[in-house]
Amino acid sequence: MILTITMNPSVDIGYSFDSFLIGQVNRVLDVSKTAGGKGLNVTRVLKSLQAPVTATGVLGGELGMFIRSELQKIDVVEDFLTINKPTRNCIAVMHDSGYQTEILEPGPTLTKHEGETFLLHLESLLSKDITTVTVSGSLPKGLAEDFYVDVVKRINKKGAKCLLDTSNQALVKVLESDIKPSIIKPNLEELEALLNQSLSSIDDQISALHHELFNGVDIIVLSKGKQGALVRWKDTIYEVTLPKVTAVNPVGSGDATVAGLAFSIEQQLDSDACIKTAMTAGVLNAMEKQTGAIDHSRFNEIYEKISLTKLS
Ligand code: ATP
Repeated sequence: MILTITMNPSVDIGYSFDSFLIGQVNRVLDVSKTAGGKGLNVTRVLKSLQAPVTATGVLGGELGMFIRSELQKIDVVEDFLTINKPTRNCIAVMHDSGYQTEILEPGPTLTKHEGETFLLHLESLLSKDITTVTVSGSLPKGLAEDFYVDVVKRINKKGAKCLLDTSNQALVKVLESDIKPSIIKPNLEELEALLNQSLSSIDDQISALHHELFNGVDIIVLSKGKQGALVRWKDTIYEVTLPKVTAVNPVGSGDATVAGLAFSIEQQLDSDACIKTAMTAGVLNAMEKQTGAIDHSRFNEIYEKISLTKLS
């Protein structure tokens, strides 16, 4: 069973307008409301891949109830900790032929006690048959920057594989600790920010994957959007190239990639198959309008067109 963790989920509202005028009344043409947050994107893609998955994290208020009901609609088993503070809305305004303006609420501020209660909740989930865990997205306000160290520690103690997909201090604190996740998936921008250097050439990117900050992390997937990815799988570097596809909405492709990795690792596939599965899920997500969605019927078609080159 795969467990997905989303500490700061949201109800994602999409509003479409022909044009959006500041300081005036704007009437919405089309509205969508979905269960959002990176970990929930991972969850939906895992469900499409027919993987056994349980979703957890923290939810509260009516928006928390909405997220639970959305997950039920697609038969996702969820075991979120309920808190007495409301889950947030995040609004994406689509306007003026291709512009997207985002309005992101910060979400609830958790107390130290709520953080500790979640860790106990996680321990009880991990006492079940969990073998792979994905940890995605930012931390809610109020929790210490090293909160994910405590999360990864519990996952490692259980002997499950941990895929950590976060950024900034939440990631730095884990990488600087003695507690290492099995897999991380930074994109190029996140890796550059992490190492505080520009990584324009492939040689720079390869050296970055060998940086001492990543000692102890088995697998690093450096995702590069439509340019594919560079992967350090233990001591081997692979370059991945993708088929040309028509991208409709690439947002959430990184989350789909994490889902593909978790799915294939759970199935104990070899490195080539894991990398290709991860990339296929990312590409398929880019081809869909909805964030965190894939058309499973096209999986083999894309998978066969992904090429992997061993660089060292
Ligand atoms: P997000 O934060 O939106 O989830 P990300 O920045 O973490 O995304 P990306 O590097 O954009 O992740 O994409 C992850 C993978 O998805 C890529 O390695 C690639 O396989 C696939 N992908 C992303 N964008 C495209 C695209 N435009 N066309 C084809 N495949 C794509």
